[in-house]
Amino acid sequence: MSEEMPFIENEKGEFAVPCQIKISENCVPLGKFFEDKAQAKEWAEDECWIFTGEGCFCESCHEQIMRNIANLQTKKMN
Ligand SMILES: [Zn+2]
Repeated sequence: MSEEMPFIENEKGEFAVPCQIKISENCVPLGKFFEDKAQAKEWAEDECWIFTGEGCFCESCHEQIMRNIANLQTKKMN
């Protein structure tokens, strides 16, 4: 079983990987467009995007998630 990656297709038939959550102010909402889906995914991997079963997160949003989790844990301790 392979997980289906969410891709955005443009009018030229090229594919890019979108950021699924867009919670960071520095969010990169959409990766670069490539003719090949594998290349679009490779680009995202090079940019340190995170791939999960829920979709992909850009690096900034992933950092934001980590900060949110850290904040939650700090709150629990108080
Ligand atoms: Zn993002």
